[in-house]
Amino acid sequence: MPLSVHHRRPRRPLRLLLPWLVGALPVLCGLLIMYWQAERELQGRSEASAKQTATQIERILDNISAAARDLLPLAGLPCVEEKLALRDQVTRRAFVRSTNLVYRGELYCSSLFGPYSEPVHDSDYTQGTLWLMSGNSVTPGHALLVFRVTEGDRGAISTVDGDHLISALHLLDADVHPLLQIGSHWMDRDGNVKDGPLPVAEVAAAQVTSTRYPFSIHSGYAQGKVGELMRSEYPALFGLLVVLGAIAGVTCYWQLRRVTSPRAELQRAMEAQEFLPYFQPVVRRGDYRWAGVEVLMRWQHPRDGLVRPDLFIPYAEHSGQIVPMTRQLMQRTAELLAPHADTLDDGFHVGINITADHCQDLTLYDDCQAFLAAFPADKVVLTLELTERKLIVPSEVTHTLFSKLHELGVLIALDDFGTGQSSLAYLQQFKVDYLKIDQSFVAMIGGDALSLHILDSVIELSSKLGLGIVAEGVETEAQRDYLDRHNVDFQQGYLFARPMSAEAFIQALATQHPPLVVSH
Ligand code: C2E
Ligand code: CA
Ligand code: CA
Repeated sequence: MPLSVHHRRPRRPLRLLLPWLVGALPVLCGLLIMYWQAERELQGRSEASAKQTATQIERILDNISAAARDLLPLAGLPCVEEKLALRDQVTRRAFVRSTNLVYRGELYCSSLFGPYSEPVHDSDYTQGTLWLMSGNSVTPGHALLVFRVTEGDRGAISTVDGDHLISALHLLDADVHPLLQIGSHWMDRDGNVKDGPLPVAEVAAAQVTSTRYPFSIHSGYAQGKVGELMRSEYPALFGLLVVLGAIAGVTCYWQLRRVTSPRAELQRAMEAQEFLPYFQPVVRRGDYRWAGVEVLMRWQHPRDGLVRPDLFIPYAEHSGQIVPMTRQLMQRTAELLAPHADTLDDGFHVGINITADHCQDLTLYDDCQAFLAAFPADKVVLTLELTERKLIVPSEVTHTLFSKLHELGVLIALDDFGTGQSSLAYLQQFKVDYLKIDQSFVAMIGGDALSLHILDSVIELSSKLGLGIVAEGVETEAQRDYLDRHNVDFQQGYLFARPMSAEAFIQALATQHPPLVVSH
């Protein structure tokens, strides 16, 4: 049935989980985008830092290489004469720490010591020009960068103190971790020079290689920098994402409730006009001509097809929606039957099933009035069928309602008679006109003597109370004939006709006789 078919409703764990998933989705997507954005931002910063650091180191090298080039023509000349020229370069050039002259593979003159002697090894120099040293005999453990220029046997060497390089590496973003690499040596921003494989930054690794000197700058950030950036730069955006996620989750939750609650499903069906009247004729004793009809609700469900009322009426009663549903059913019945009123015998009974909910106020009176107003006067007799299974509690309101209904000419039938606990006082209180003997009693016909005795007593009681009798659920000719013999006024059942669509009913009405012509 549409209201309890489990395959259609999401399973309970999924129903509970889905709003959380839907809520988390925008947050997760947003976080992913933010993460990606933060990564891009850091990559950009890292590359820019590396570029600027490289430019600064090139400027330093320009400065010290100029000193070396200036001194190159002096290489090979005696040291005592050229010592002052070497010191002059140290004094004049901002970044130069020392200058030296080389001749035939020997450093023979130094701005620091004057005449000197130390072999110069080609292999120490990357591309013959740069040597990053962790220290020398003058300042052991203190970084030093050496620049060399050579021409034939002559060469000139200038050096720059590691502190200048450290300053260059500290130029930018405090969090960036730049490294200066020259050949197999590299130096970090603390001035430590190491040999061997270069550590690769965990986040936003970037490398800029100078086109003018044989060095590279490597930069990047430590692990966790992306999260740190997100926390510091996107808290407002994150807050927005959480709000969006919450809205999505709550919307999903309500949407699921809407789809899964029987109340919502019935409401939807009502709006889509899916509740239809089906019609089952009630025949009168003797000629079995159609004296009336019972309107039975059907749900034309878009997926499950035609649904029987006992599968959804209990939900509608429970939720209180039975009242508007019945109102809609009565309106629809009037719309369908009124244009064919001329095919109905005068005083044709139209039975509508109502429940206790209808008796809580006087709106039922208005609904009945509107129904009758759709037909020519005295054409139809409206009968409200009240089930004996759930008795109505008498009150001031019910008293007024039933009095007014009787004034309007509406009759009351006690449905499923014999199955409940109604008393004589009850029948009088609600001004009952008809008793509808429940089909379970009719089914006793043909059974044992005790069962028949019960049925006879019910029929006898009804006639003693002076009420009209309708027997429900007549399926066999034996039942029909038995009820006939016992003066039951009206019969209803598959033997005469099954509940049918409005179209079929109207078509059958036009021929003025039931489809099954019964011989008596
Ligand atoms: P009910 O008022 O006792 O209606 C008679 C039921 O017996 C109908 O079932 C009808 O199709 C079925 N019936 C008629 N003749 C025979 C027969 O010869 N043999 C058998 N076995 N059954 C027969 P239906 O249409 O499935 O309705 C079931 C119940 O749902 C109704 O019982 C009534 O209590 C409720 N119902 C139907 N329509 C409405 C409605 O518009 N409002 C309310 N409140 N209840 C309704
Ligand atoms: Ca009924
Ligand atoms: Ca009944």
